[in-house]
Amino acid sequence: MEEKNFICTACPMGCKLIVRMEGDEVVKILGQRCRRGETYGRQEAIAPQRMVASTVRVVGGLHPLLPVYTKGTIPKRRIGDVLAAIRAVEVKAPVKATQVIIPNVIGTGVDVIASRDMPEK
Ligand code: SF4
Repeated sequence: MEEKNFICTACPMGCKLIVRMEGDEVVKILGQRCRRGETYGRQEAIAPQRMVASTVRVVGGLHPLLPVYTKGTIPKRRIGDVLAAIRAVEVKAPVKATQVIIPNVIGTGVDVIASRDMPEK
């Protein structure tokens, strides 16, 4: 049996989780103080997900870079591909906060959106 250790980030309590695995299967989760921790531990052990934040180049904007983030979580193993897709993009000012910059980034079903307004220069 394998044990994986995580800190639950579903709330500020930060419970220390121990997830016991047999192969790819979760057999026991310890240390959680609520159900959210159980869900988090299971997800983290089997298929961890993350939000991604980065910047894209802006043409004609007040600043040369626009901060962006994924509207939802994506599989952790795809972070590099998402960052490469973001790096390949250039947007034209003006841009509004929450405007979709890359729809369905690399087929994940998650959009990359602007985290702030970017007015024209
Ligand atoms: S297990 Fe529950 S109480 Fe503990 S950090 Fe996660 S969400 Fe918070």
